[in-house]
Amino acid sequence: MNIWFATNNGHKKEELQAILNTSLKIPSQEGYAFNPEETGDTFCENALIKARELHKLLGNNEPVIADDSGLNVDALGGRPGVLSARYGMENGQKLTSDQQNILLLDELGDSPLRSARFVCSMVLFYSNDRFFVIQETLEGEIVKKSEMRGDGGFGYDPVFLIPQFGRTLAELSVEEKNFLSHRGKAGKIIANLLKNNG
Ligand code: IMP
Repeated sequence: MNIWFATNNGHKKEELQAILNTSLKIPSQEGYAFNPEETGDTFCENALIKARELHKLLGNNEPVIADDSGLNVDALGGRPGVLSARYGMENGQKLTSDQQNILLLDELGDSPLRSARFVCSMVLFYSNDRFFVIQETLEGEIVKKSEMRGDGGFGYDPVFLIPQFGRTLAELSVEEKNFLSHRGKAGKIIANLLKNNG
């Protein structure tokens, strides 16, 4: 049975395959043009948009997993939130992850409030009438600008500190990150759903 993941992000595919301990198909590697517009106001809505779109594209009932995730920073009123992938792209130009991290650290400045969380909504979608939605979090803190570090993971990992480890997410091994992370926690629940619901 094929299990699909509604993403074009190779990093996320690798992470989820390790979490689910199974191989996943992603549309771009199977000849499908998949570019849904993420118009939802919440992670959950956007995950469902991606799942529905891939389900429609496939035209069968093979299970589709979709996720939408991002970083909510308390001192920024929850931004960048659902716009995390597009943070700093207001003028249309695409920023690298490094540029987004610097922008975030500059915007946060010396604010004493550093708390933040990664959020992941994950959907296991069988049909328009049958799907499961899980939403999980990973709590942490945004480092000061001089403390950005680590070269593992992706995205905002180098600026996200796990206080009890004294390390950023980018300094954790793949196994450590998957054990703790928003995507790891949601993925483990999805793995059980897959096992028990066929
Ligand atoms: P999505 O692919 O639309 O879900 O966008 C998620 C965006 O949120 C990514 O491009 C990253 O910027 C950020 N993000 C989500 N999860 C993580 C993570 O585990 N580490 C670092 N950044 C993440």
